[in-house]
Amino acid sequence: MQFSSALLEAAVNEFSRLPGIGKKTALRLVLHLLKQDTEAVLQFTNAIAHMRREIRFCKRCFNVADEDLCSICSNTFRQQQTICVVENIRDVIAIENTQQYNGVYHVLGGIISPLDGIGPDDLNIEALLQRVAEEKIEEIIFALNPNIQGDTTIYYIQKKLSGKDIRITTIARGIAFGGELEYADELTLGRSLQNRLPVENYMNR
Ligand SMILES: [Zn+2]
Repeated sequence: MQFSSALLEAAVNEFSRLPGIGKKTALRLVLHLLKQDTEAVLQFTNAIAHMRREIRFCKRCFNVADEDLCSICSNTFRQQQTICVVENIRDVIAIENTQQYNGVYHVLGGIISPLDGIGPDDLNIEALLQRVAEEKIEEIIFALNPNIQGDTTIYYIQKKLSGKDIRITTIARGIAFGGELEYADELTLGRSLQNRLPVENYMNR
């Protein structure tokens, strides 16, 4: 792609570094911004810069946060004794959108995947075990994608929790095998949360 302006080229290159954005789409976005007035574009770039600079991760659950604790952990109306274990922040957003869950979360930051070189130590698993040891946790709900890596992760954590007096469940399989949690529709995801199963039943299926 040839550009008559180095400034335009630089902006297009930045946009095309985003996932799913090719050069053509990047150019379309940049040209769209060019049509806006300067003030509107500054508001856009400031929001991104501000978000990147200020955002933090919750000390307790590793969700995105504006303070030390995220808005879910610091909400006293939520059941702090129920933890839903998810792979990433997109899953928190997907489950929140169902409006069917009133507990708190624990974001693992990935999933055990030996082929990709991701082991338990690369994830926030130790922090989860610590929460179980320190907080009066009554139930752990695994809401991981139903694939081999998800099952491996559940198996590993469940073993670590054996002997503890906690209900350990997993969301029901409303989602197709290998399906991505974040793409499940809200109704399906909400229902699979409601119809959760004890992990032993799930593992021995
Ligand atoms: Zn939190």
